[in-house]
Amino acid sequence: MDRPTGRQRKDFVVEVVRGKGDVASAAEPSSIIDYQPVWTYDDEAHWPGLRCREGGKRQSPIDIKTSDVIPDYTKQFIKYGPLQFTGYHKVLVSGINNGHTIQFSSEGEEAIHPVLTGGPLKYLYRLEQLHFHWLSEHSINGVKYPMELHFVHVRADLTVYEALGKRDGLAIVSVFGNVQAELDDYQQEASEMMQHIPKLMKTGDRTSGVLLDMTKLLSPNRESYYTYSGSLTSPECNEAVIWIIFDSPIFLTDAQYRLFGKVGVGRHNFRSLQKLKHHVVFSPAESKIHIPQIVIFFEDVIRVFTDFFRNVGTFVSDGLPTR
Ligand SMILES: [Zn+2]
Repeated sequence: MDRPTGRQRKDFVVEVVRGKGDVASAAEPSSIIDYQPVWTYDDEAHWPGLRCREGGKRQSPIDIKTSDVIPDYTKQFIKYGPLQFTGYHKVLVSGINNGHTIQFSSEGEEAIHPVLTGGPLKYLYRLEQLHFHWLSEHSINGVKYPMELHFVHVRADLTVYEALGKRDGLAIVSVFGNVQAELDDYQQEASEMMQHIPKLMKTGDRTSGVLLDMTKLLSPNRESYYTYSGSLTSPECNEAVIWIIFDSPIFLTDAQYRLFGKVGVGRHNFRSLQKLKHHVVFSPAESKIHIPQIVIFFEDVIRVFTDFFRNVGTFVSDGLPTR
């Protein structure tokens, strides 16, 4: 096993799953120095973790081709009924800018953390944290959304480290974020959460005691999703994740999205798309998969990002449809 040690280990723990213990200790100046990322999105070839560098069998993120998605009539993968989200209405969290993303981690006793089960999940999974990628990491039929939210859950009967070694140790719920100039009242899902973003603009910025209604940040249609066995999209890229990716996005305004463009996390914060190997993507048999209409505003997204998103040209030529 290729495991990072010392500072690498710390960075790995902070970024991927927990954050809580390290966030507390980072109040001391010496720890803040330690807090600088040891890996970057500009240098994927040198990420810690063999799977990240050489690729495993089910690395994430991937492009989901809707024509290849298997409606799971025989309950081959989606065996446990409807998804059940419990305790997402009032979630006590602390926010941090960890140099890779903005992250809100569950605070307080594990007993009060939100839990998820059902769908492809045999076990109960506890919400550890929510973080953001802009642009999205997964794409649908070659097209990316402006944003992707990751709700990272750990199997409740395992420690984090045990979970990282099991194929179903983690469950990450993914919600795409779409951008519109103006939103209808029913689309104001992100406004509560957005109030906390200005406090988290620089690496190491943090805020605690935040109460978030996370049901607003979940997709408006939780019966329709893609699901597959994959990996973490940051070091060490453990193939320990059941991905649940909603096809209906939430919405952000142009102004809200621009604020993310000013968050200090380097040029961008998504891992490149991974080759399809042993990936099999399912959807609930009863769901009516919504094919995104995001190409329409993709030019707007590029405009928003032109100031700092200097590699967008490369990115577009890597597989996005051009219009
Ligand atoms: Zn993520």
